Amino acid sequence: MPQDSRKILLVEDEKAIRDAVTAYLEREKYSVVGVGDGQSAVEEFEKRQFDLVILDLMLPKLSGERVCRAIRDGSDVPIIMLTAKGEVEDRIIGLELGADDYLIKPFSPRELVARVRALLRRTHLDAEPQLEVLDFGDLKIDVSGHKVEVEGREVDLTASEFKLLTTLARYPGRVYTRMELVEKVLGYDFEGYERTIDSHVKNLRAKLGDDPRHPKWLYTVHGVGYRFEAPKKPEPEKDDEKAAE
Ligand code: CA
Repeated sequence: MPQDSRKILLVEDEKAIRDAVTAYLEREKYSVVGVGDGQSAVEEFEKRQFDLVILDLMLPKLSGERVCRAIRDGSDVPIIMLTAKGEVEDRIIGLELGADDYLIKPFSPRELVARVRALLRRTHLDAEPQLEVLDFGDLKIDVSGHKVEVEGREVDLTASEFKLLTTLARYPGRVYTRMELVEKVLGYDFEGYERTIDSHVKNLRAKLGDDPRHPKWLYTVHGVGYRFEAPKKPEPEKDDEKAAE
């Protein structure tokens, strides 16, 4: 096992799933520690450093929910939740507990590996010093310069609107619950403030000229929250450029 491989804690009580996922991850050169219950997960996590945790929600001894809280108590390690049912409540539980992503069972190990790779990549990006410009064509967000342009015209956003936009736009496709957005944007976690996010989104849409009925960037995820989508733009390829010359 290579010394510098990323270490993953896999918490899953179904041995067949644990074995299959371990095999896939090891094939991708990740180093995996697999445990079958919540108690062992917490013990293992305290013993050594992990780069990522894959956590089943339904576990013997200590639930995935409790394990997640225990881990989040002192660590911001990326966590992917595995939820048995595809029910919205379960997904929200996962995200509100501080998981970074979730996967609904049954899932393909290949899909899980893709999520692991993406999550490790963006965690790595977060750790780098930011001279950050998010360029979505018509929409440009200069994160370090605190500026937003729509079709070349500068848009004046409040601090909260700016924070909300950058939070969503950093991870296109990722769904954020209102509660998560309250924490990230407003910096507190009182329940009842979720609706303030709706007002911020409404103002943001108006300023960006993003029609909620035909959204370009900001999408409502009903019963959950919001997500940002980057409009697809044609990838300029070297060969194409040559052909166009
Ligand atoms: Ca389980």
